[in-house]
Formats: sequence, structure tokens, C-alpha cells
Amino acid sequence: MEEVRRAMLSDWLTQGPKVPEFEGAVLDFCWARYAVAVNSGTSALHVACLALGLGSGDSLWTSPNTFVASANCALYCGAQVDFVDIDPITYNMSVEQLEFKLKKALKSPKIVVPVHFAGQPCDMEAIRWLADKYGFFVVEDACHALGAVYKDSPTGSCFYSDVTIFSFHPVKIITTGEGGMATTNQPEISRKMQLFRSHGITRQEQEMERQDEGAWFYEQQMLGYNYRMTDIQAAIGVSQVKRLNEFVEKRRAIAERYSEMLDGLPLQLPCEAPGRSSAWHLYVIRLDLKQIAKTRKAIFDAMRRLGVGVNVHYIPVHLQPFYQKLGFRKGAFPEAESYYEEALSLPIYPDLTLEQQSTVVRALKETLL
Ligand SMILES: *Cc1c(COP(=O)(O)O)cnc(C)c1O
Repeated sequence: MEEVRRAMLSDWLTQGPKVPEFEGAVLDFCWARYAVAVNSGTSALHVACLALGLGSGDSLWTSPNTFVASANCALYCGAQVDFVDIDPITYNMSVEQLEFKLKKALKSPKIVVPVHFAGQPCDMEAIRWLADKYGFFVVEDACHALGAVYKDSPTGSCFYSDVTIFSFHPVKIITTGEGGMATTNQPEISRKMQLFRSHGITRQEQEMERQDEGAWFYEQQMLGYNYRMTDIQAAIGVSQVKRLNEFVEKRRAIAERYSEMLDGLPLQLPCEAPGRSSAWHLYVIRLDLKQIAKTRKAIFDAMRRLGVGVNVHYIPVHLQPFYQKLGFRKGAFPEAESYYEEALSLPIYPDLTLEQQSTVVRALKETLL
């Protein structure tokens, strides 16, 4: 709140000096060379796709187990969307399914968007290998995964990808109210994302196509948007990044406690694959409904009645009416669909107390047993 007060009293309210300060703070954390702050994770996906040249005649593949924004960004660019089914243990895009689909495809996708579901990084080394073999760009949707680590490199380093995008929506690991960011190691991609963030306009003399006519001069070089982050939001972000390690450690402690307390119940606990450290955005249990002999809806409703804010992540994107109208059918991605029938997200956030967590576990045992 003190940071916001100072931003409000400054000469800048919209994008000003706080935005590059916030970008720098995120870069220090995740080791990439460039960062472009925008007004949402969705905008970050859009500018990333635009900067990589996604357009009509191209396709983008992502996971069906995600928020709709991961797929919508392709359609904003006039490209086609397709999905790759998930792995039944990590609930991330299955690398085997990706390779199988690439082998069969007449044309490789232009971009693949792996989503680090629940905060757990995808198998990036394998995805990078396939990207080099089949010639596609990789945009990591890391909206859940700021603070995660994959084989010693922090998520956002773009060690295995072209661009990584983050969201700072209030439910995410850190927040700016609304906000997002794209990181990359490629100067040209960064420059393009900056242009798309603000109408395709540059005021930098060295970037201009024509002679600079004076101090007022600017050039619109492509069709961009108004996706700017405000200095007020960036000020919140600067303050939030300072607490990022603390937030992730608290989430991890909560996740570990859940896994101890829920051991032995008729459900599949979330797992961390080898070489991966999750940011624990979500704690998802997969109910063994045959053993429990209750529907997921009955369990969900009973938990809500007991005052526990359970949720479900995610309704497979291809089952949304909009995507059904585009021609996707039920049964097309069976792992994502059967996972969806059995998934339940338990409350996880840094301020969740031990006592509250015990209440959640008691309510779940009462409901299941
Ligand atoms: C939240 C989220 C988004 C969208 O981010 P916004 O900041 O809400 O636009 C995209 N992808 C995933 C996986 C998300 O969880």
C-alpha cells in the first residue's frame, strides 16, 4: 500500500519508471534477458504469438487442461488451435502424445504452448528437442508457475523456450490486481512485444523507419494494442516480487502437509516429477470415484456446505461450447476428460493457517469415508 501511495503521488500513473523496475525485478528472479510487462497474462500470450509471427494458415497447439486464454491467443491472431492430451500423472501436456501428433501431422504447428499446470513445469527438455526436430516455437504458459524450477533453471529463464508468459491476476503466485509479463532471451522478439504492447508505436530514434522530425515525433510501424501496465500496478508488483520466495515456500509447506494428512485416502495425490520444483499454485487431488461410490459433484457440494472453498481446474477447453462450435468433439482428448471428472482443487494460498488446513482435511475425510 505504501508503494501504491508513492506511485499515486509520482508524475506517472500509467506506464512509467515503475514498469521497467518491475520487469527488472522479475528478470533478476528468473534469469531471462528481456521482460515486457503488460495488462494481463492473456495480453502476454497475445503479444508473444504476434511477435513470433503467428497468423492465418498457422496453427498453435496447447493443453486442453488449462484456462481458455492459452488457446484463445491463437484465434486472436487468425490461426488455428489444436490440443495435445495430458499426462495422467502430472496433468501437463503429454510429451508422448505431442510426438505422436507431430509424426502424424501434415504440417507442424508454428507454436506449441505447454502450460505448467498447478505450478509444475512441463518436460521442457523433451519439448525443446521436439521443437528443434519439427521446427516450432515454444511459448511457456507459466501463469501458475512463477517461482517454479526445472532442472536448475527458474521458470521464465526461457532456457528451453522462445517466450515465457506470466499472469499477476489475484489468484496467481504474485499479483498486481490485473497484469502479466512475457520474458525472452531474444532481443528482436522483445522489441516486437514492446511494440505490440502500445499500438505498434516507437519513440526510439534508432528504431525509426524514417527521419526523426523532432522531439514530438513517433512512428506507428505495425498494428498494436493498448496492453500497457500502469505504474500503480507495477509498484504493487515490485513489492510482491520481494515476497515471492516466501509465498512459494509457504505454498510448498502447505502442499507437503496436505500430502502427509491425505495419505491412504481413496485418491491420487499430486506428484512432483523428478527434476522439477512446483510453485504450488494449485493442490489438485484426483478422486477414486469407484472406491468412494459418490459423484464428484456430491463431494464438491458437501465440501462447500462445510465451508471449504474447493474448486475444479479445469473444464477441458475443447468441451467449451465455443470450441465445440469450432468442431472439437467429446472424446477427442480422453485423459484430460477423465481427469476432469475426478479432479478437486483444495484451498492453497500463503495465508492458509494450520488450523484451516486441518478443517479442510477433516471435512474431506468426513465426506469421503
Ligand atoms: C490465469 C491464466 C491465464 C490468463 O491470465 P490473465 O492474467 O487472467 O489474463 C492464462 N493461462 C493460464 C494457465 C492461467 O491460469
